[in-house]
Amino acid sequence: MNSEYPFTRFAPSPTGYLHRGHILSALCVYAAAEKFGYRVRLRIENHDQSRARQAYIDAIREDLEWLGFTWDAESIQSANTERYERLLERLRSKGLIYACNCSRKFTFETNPTNSDGEIIYQGHCQNLGLPFTKDHAVRFKTPNENIEWEDLLLGKFMENPKELCGDFALKDRIGQWTYQFAVVADDFEEGIGLVVRGEDLKHSTSRQIVLAQALGRTTPPLFLHHPLIVDPMGKKLSKREHAASIRGERDKGKSAEALLGEVCAKAGIIKKTQLLSVKDSIQLVKNRLF
Ligand code: GLU
Ligand code: ZN
Repeated sequence: MNSEYPFTRFAPSPTGYLHRGHILSALCVYAAAEKFGYRVRLRIENHDQSRARQAYIDAIREDLEWLGFTWDAESIQSANTERYERLLERLRSKGLIYACNCSRKFTFETNPTNSDGEIIYQGHCQNLGLPFTKDHAVRFKTPNENIEWEDLLLGKFMENPKELCGDFALKDRIGQWTYQFAVVADDFEEGIGLVVRGEDLKHSTSRQIVLAQALGRTTPPLFLHHPLIVDPMGKKLSKREHAASIRGERDKGKSAEALLGEVCAKAGIIKKTQLLSVKDSIQLVKNRLF
């Protein structure tokens, strides 16, 4: 563990209530924290102000406490505007960003997409010299290079972020900070040395590494992407599709111990469901993962 970066983080977005998938994610964060000697930060990722709700923010803390988790530090992205402005200015002064006024429709019509359905932005606005005004997006001049990293669970990766996503956005056309930018800025300045998150985000890693480098971070965080719990159709659980929420289960009378046991069973960590404390669940996940 690098003393400049003593934290790992659990970083849910308050765009819905937490569900079983979040419990597994939190257990993996705490298991990795124990295994590798990190402290845990809870970070509320409300960069998308159009979808975030105060009720969901309050529920994140309540649900985690009800399950028995405690954390060493907490932050919320809506309090970090000064950080994002300052770091964006750092990139601007190095000539690493440009303004973009492509509409959503035009962007989709004129750029290819990758296998995750994301735009590979080809740089339409790069040489237009558009001003950095409120209604323009801001894009990063993604370097065209192969990035290698070793995931603590999944092993070695090599990806070229330019080929994967092109010049990705740091701020959108309605002035909101994007997930990629907010996460990299926060991981850098909140002392995050280990990123633990679901496998669905593994292809964000190479672009996050190059962006962190451009911001002046000399050692990128370590990364660990864990498997997801899937629904009976094999799809990842999603708030948008109303995966049963933790508080819904609680209101129906389920105990935290029963829910933790179920999650461990669904994730294949134990054979069949049993009552488990948060501490025992973390130990089981730790033994299973490492
Ligand atoms: N806020 C993201 C989510 O809830 C997680 C971001 C990350 O761990 O990098 O999916
Ligand atoms: Zn553009």
